[in-house]
Amino acid sequence: MEDRILLKDKKRIIIKIGSSSITHEDTGHISLSKMERFVRQIADLKNRGKEVIVVSSGAIAVGISALNLTQKPTDLDKVQAVASVGQASLIMLYQKLFREYNQTVGQVLITKDVLDHQKRKDNAVKTFNALMAYDAVTIVNENDTLSTEEIEFGDNDRLSAIVASLVQGDLLILLSDIDGLYNKNPKVHDDAKLIEKVAVINEDIRKMAGDSHSKVGTGGMITKLLAGEIATSAGVDMVIANSKEPQIIERITDGENIGTLFVGNR
Ligand code: ADP
Repeated sequence: MEDRILLKDKKRIIIKIGSSSITHEDTGHISLSKMERFVRQIADLKNRGKEVIVVSSGAIAVGISALNLTQKPTDLDKVQAVASVGQASLIMLYQKLFREYNQTVGQVLITKDVLDHQKRKDNAVKTFNALMAYDAVTIVNENDTLSTEEIEFGDNDRLSAIVASLVQGDLLILLSDIDGLYNKNPKVHDDAKLIEKVAVINEDIRKMAGDSHSKVGTGGMITKLLAGEIATSAGVDMVIANSKEPQIIERITDGENIGTLFVGNR
């Protein structure tokens, strides 16, 4: 319980929004009402004096709608073109929604090679810090348009954990279509039980994680645990929670015992 109360004092908060959290389950198209709910909660978090970085998926889903496609193309160049159209529309949507609450948005698109060069890494950190000093909400995504396999983070769970560790965040929130980490995949096992707190991510914990079962989800629980290892070893607390829960961001940052908390190494 004490670990949860500590979440109230977290100042620098990174929030990862999965594709499933901003799209309609049946069509895969963007859900404006889901997005609006997030933006409102994040704007309120800013009004409480917190610094917020949002890592948002959804560019491909938005691109598919914008280009009137029925499904994601298979050729890499076409996927990247869809991501290009989608990212532009997605950020426009964020900008429009945040503006209603008087918040300014900045965009950072990154590739993994930012980590391989100290100078680029320093630049990225400085830019994030400057955006926070300007009081902007930074929206981050992988640079899908140009990324090839060698320079890909692969999934936004990992990307958000890397961003959280780069900026020495206090709390990383992964919003998903699931209430948290269960002792086994709850989409497959009816008797799966929610784990409220993980002190150390060890082999027993890793064994609990399975793949994604959603149409738009990417990594399933495995990539979230990898993200957990990156975040907690950098001293960042991480919470996995269900984006469908009302006021979920507010409740987590109020110290409510909801979702799964992975305690950062201190
Ligand atoms: P997102 O789109 O939010 O990144 P994913 O679909 O990639 O979400 O990951 C969440 C999914 O992981 C759940 O819907 C569930 O099917 C799957 N999963 C596998 N093992 C577990 C587990 N032990 N606990 C919770 N979810 C699990």
